Amino acid sequence: MKAMLFLQAALLAAALLSAPGGREALAAEGEGWFTVQYGDLTVTALSDSTGRMPYSLFLPSEISPADFAALAGQAGPEYADSVPSWINAFLVRKGDSLFLVDAGTGTGIADRIRAAGYAPEAVTHVIVTHFHGDHIGGLAAEGGGKAFPNAVLFAPKRDEEYFIPSDGSEVSGTDLARRATAPYRADGTYRPFEPGSQIAPGVNSVSLWGHTPGHSGFRFEGTGGPFLAWGDIVHAYLIQFPRPEATVSYDVDRPSAAETRKRVFNEAADGKLLVAGAHLPFPALGTVSRAQGAGFAWHPYLPPEPAAADGPKPEAGAAPASPEAEAPAADQAK
Ligand SMILES: [Zn+2]
Repeated sequence: MKAMLFLQAALLAAALLSAPGGREALAAEGEGWFTVQYGDLTVTALSDSTGRMPYSLFLPSEISPADFAALAGQAGPEYADSVPSWINAFLVRKGDSLFLVDAGTGTGIADRIRAAGYAPEAVTHVIVTHFHGDHIGGLAAEGGGKAFPNAVLFAPKRDEEYFIPSDGSEVSGTDLARRATAPYRADGTYRPFEPGSQIAPGVNSVSLWGHTPGHSGFRFEGTGGPFLAWGDIVHAYLIQFPRPEATVSYDVDRPSAAETRKRVFNEAADGKLLVAGAHLPFPALGTVSRAQGAGFAWHPYLPPEPAAADGPKPEAGAAPASPEAEAPAADQAK
């Protein structure tokens, strides 16, 4: 029922339910990829990997350990001793352009793109939300060239300034930031963008700074309504929707990250945005509403029931486990 309510609220406006084929027309899915037609936008969620994040990444936080433990307890066994994490990227087809939002940790996203029926060569714009390794690790191919050879790379200028200091000094992540962007700089397809600037007609960056100085979302205007890919606004959905002030140790500026989260939750609820989150449960597409107190609720897009067929239900969202995601030192799930 929740699924139907959500579909009616978020997707009926796009007249998709009246499309020939009814529910079957809404989505296509396979292992690690999931496509939904949202008006004139074709949105494909791509799963890079899944893992778990230790509690220690979230504590100390702006909520007390007792409150954290209570929320984790309510969340059930999934949160018994650590927080489940997903790493996702998104492909958006809009007109003749194919936008990839974030590139994952390595070669997995290019593989998922192929599985979903596209070629990495068809990507016209790669747009990254920020410079952490789970978002830029897949920009360069294993040989060092561009993993998306025909794409222009749009990257937040403030993250470039933070992660690749102009004085030649280094911070955590500098080496990867240099390597990941190098092949695009080399062939003249690297485009640093200012906060809030336009990426392409109908595609605008939205400053969501706090997690990193340049952390950005991307808002796509489509005939089905606005679609916002919000990057790392949420790392622990069962904690941070009810208590948006809770931050994670990866946040460069924790108070700003919390303020930005509250602001974008309100905007998503008011604007009835279809949202995509890099670390929400795959396929990580859904809407936000206000809930108890100062809290919010996440309403995932649920896949349509699979057509009656022999064999087990396809495991939408199944993705290879990524043990490295547990290691805080690794460039994972940041
Ligand atoms: Zn991340």
